[in-house]
Amino acid sequence: YDMQEKIDYVFKVVVIGDSAVGKTQILSRFAKNEFCFDSKSTIGVEFQTRTVTINEKVIKAQIWDTAGQERYRAVTSAYYRGALGAMLVYDITKRQSFDHVARWVEELRSHADSSIVIMLVGNKADLVDLRMVPTEDAVEFAEDQGLFFSETSALSGDNVESAFLKLLEEINRVV
Ligand code: GDP
Ligand code: MG
Repeated sequence: YDMQEKIDYVFKVVVIGDSAVGKTQILSRFAKNEFCFDSKSTIGVEFQTRTVTINEKVIKAQIWDTAGQERYRAVTSAYYRGALGAMLVYDITKRQSFDHVARWVEELRSHADSSIVIMLVGNKADLVDLRMVPTEDAVEFAEDQGLFFSETSALSGDNVESAFLKLLEEINRVV
């Protein structure tokens, strides 16, 4: 039957973070359960959708992906407009991508709605031998800033589903 008819809410979620941290792959994993080994960097702003049921509400998550404009201040305010949630992604093997997380939070605070729910995500958790960002550093930052936190692997799929569902649940709690 047609799910379209039964949708209670559409939640806009934005995925942000430095280039090459795995934003597009996390999104593909959640939306299509796919990991693309020869992915090109994203061209053009795009979104993917997935419909989930949370507390008996049918929620269509409309998840936006940046278009390779991840340089500081290059993401436009239109991208953030109407966003109820954000996945802020860094790469656990790239210290710099974690050091930039504070800037991304600042971006969200200045461009997005003040009630936006933010999930900090340390991706590429499968690359255990290359880890440069201790989990505790991220936990401390997240607690300090009032963010939710998870470590994921878009490659194996670990925690991707739970991180998105947690974000959507929290949005559903506040709408
Ligand atoms: P984006 O620029 O943030 O959208 O990053 P992409 O999703 O394009 O991923 C950048 C690179 O990291 C690609 O070569 C991906 O295959 C790789 N990648 C993404 N997620 C993971 C992951 O969880 N584990 C590993 N090992 N590689 C990943
Ligand atoms: Mg991308």
